[in-house]
Amino acid sequence: MNLRTPGPTPIPDNIMETMMNPMVDHRGPEFAGMLPTITDNLKTLFLTDNDVLILTASGSGGLEAAVVNVLSPGEKILVVSIGSFGNRFGKIAEIYGAEVIWLKKDWGLPALASEVGIMIDKNPDISAVLVTHNETSTGVTNPLEEIAKEVKSRDKLLVVDAVSSLGSLPCKVDDWGLDVVVTGSQKGWMVPPGLTMVSMSDTAWDANSKATMPRAYFDLAVAREYATRGQTPWTPALSLFNALNKSLELMLEEGLEGIHSRHKRVADKVRNEVKAAGFSLFPKEEIYCSNTVTAVKALENMDIAQFREKTRSEGVVFAGGQGELSGSIFRIGHLGYIPDSEIEEALNVLRNVLK
Ligand SMILES: *Cc1c(COP(=O)(O)O)cnc(C)c1O
Repeated sequence: MNLRTPGPTPIPDNIMETMMNPMVDHRGPEFAGMLPTITDNLKTLFLTDNDVLILTASGSGGLEAAVVNVLSPGEKILVVSIGSFGNRFGKIAEIYGAEVIWLKKDWGLPALASEVGIMIDKNPDISAVLVTHNETSTGVTNPLEEIAKEVKSRDKLLVVDAVSSLGSLPCKVDDWGLDVVVTGSQKGWMVPPGLTMVSMSDTAWDANSKATMPRAYFDLAVAREYATRGQTPWTPALSLFNALNKSLELMLEEGLEGIHSRHKRVADKVRNEVKAAGFSLFPKEEIYCSNTVTAVKALENMDIAQFREKTRSEGVVFAGGQGELSGSIFRIGHLGYIPDSEIEEALNVLRNVLK
């Protein structure tokens, strides 16, 4: 199957093979030898000197970890949401008792930095801003660098869902001043689902020392303490750590610039060919279109479920729309392992099924 969903994404064979390695004692020297290398390589790709911790959970577990480690019940925060993942992030904060002020945009639009600045000025008592970098449900990338300037110039804690952007799109954690940043193994990292990686700035650790939301499995201070000994608090998904170790080696070989330009080139190609086939893109402005996932509007009278069923029978899996977009869009994932031949095949099948 040619899996063109925005996570899970295809895994190259040489990464797949590492998951055949025998199990080791996760409190022994093999794992302790591997963890610092993985962590250092992640820091290089996050462009950060901050701590990066690796948790055994999907991306949503990373979002929950971010929330419970830096916030307290009753704390007033701003959540910027441009789609279903933004809503999920804010919902997690609400479940744990944060008082959420929402900045919600119509789906298909980005959040503009000026809008975020105005919202903070209207609610000066908020302590933190939660924002999605790349909204996978709508195929829109927020102008995070500009948003970060507004947030950090007002001295608020900035917590970012970079699950479907980091490792594929430019995301400069230290340069942009991002305090807590979450990503997930099954997106651009060419690793199966099951690991989430979270960076924490000094400001985030300060917040952590005062934050009173309950936390046990996802306690990042405990994870940091264990990491100094080359361990994780709980049994790590060892096979996935092996895969991540290998994928980071391959990613560093290619380099961030190579990775980013490859994603841009493939995304441009997908957008152009989808438009040439008669479709229009779901995002309202092309400059905010994501370079990791393309959201495409259904043609008039098009049955998206049937269309996806047919492409699947020809070996290509596209994603449908989430929530309120179900039935009105489909999505093409192009992040992580995206060989030209597979992208060509996906576009060919798309055109054939359309006929
Ligand atoms: C995939 C994704 C998540 C996490 O989803 P999981 O299914 O829990 O891994 C969070 N945010 C965004 C933007 C995503 O694309």
